[in-house]
Amino acid sequence: MGAIAAAEATLNLTIQYIKERQAFGKQVAEFQNTKYKIAELATEVEMGRVFADRCVELHDNKQLDGATASMAKYSLTELQCKVADACVQLHGGYGYIWEYQVARAWADARVQRIYAGTNEIMKELISRKYLK
Ligand SMILES: Cc1cc2nc3c(=O)[nH]c(=O)nc-3n(C[C@H](O)[C@H](O)[C@H](O)COP(=O)(O)OP(=O)(O)OC[C@H]3O[C@@H](n4cnc5c(N)ncnc54)[C@H](O)[C@@H]3O)c2cc1C
Repeated sequence: MGAIAAAEATLNLTIQYIKERQAFGKQVAEFQNTKYKIAELATEVEMGRVFADRCVELHDNKQLDGATASMAKYSLTELQCKVADACVQLHGGYGYIWEYQVARAWADARVQRIYAGTNEIMKELISRKYLK
């Protein structure tokens, strides 16, 4: 849940930023590449949110199995990292500067694939369901 919430927040703060930032006499949001990148990220975040909510629903009904929980941890933390990295890129040089929230979001995202069991271990657990 932390991963999908962070992905949503990072995308939202980046959308605000690219509407304000001007380059070559235009908003960064007006470049075609920016529009396509936002469309791709928004689609993946929406899909991630649906999966996360589905896992909560299963958990509430005591039906969330270990493999599905591992799928959520693995896929949503990979998505968080992908979104944070793309959002740093959309910020340009400011994205590297610690004072900008997106730089912090990128650093915070990176550890998510490591702790609470690395994503390699998540894949190990998922594979056991399908290859037993
Ligand atoms: C900020 C932070 C907070 C943490 N908080 C807690 C906490 O509150 N409680 C807690 O118990 N732990 C905590 N941890 C520990 C965390 O869960 C471990 O770092 C994590 O599980 C990875 O273990 P490791 O660091 O020993 O890496 P290692 O096991 O040494 O892994 C190194 C690499 O080898 C890979 N690898 C290892 N075994 C396999 C395998 N069988 N198959 C394939 N690849 C493998 C890993 O995926 C990784 O890429 C925290 C870690 C961090 C960084």
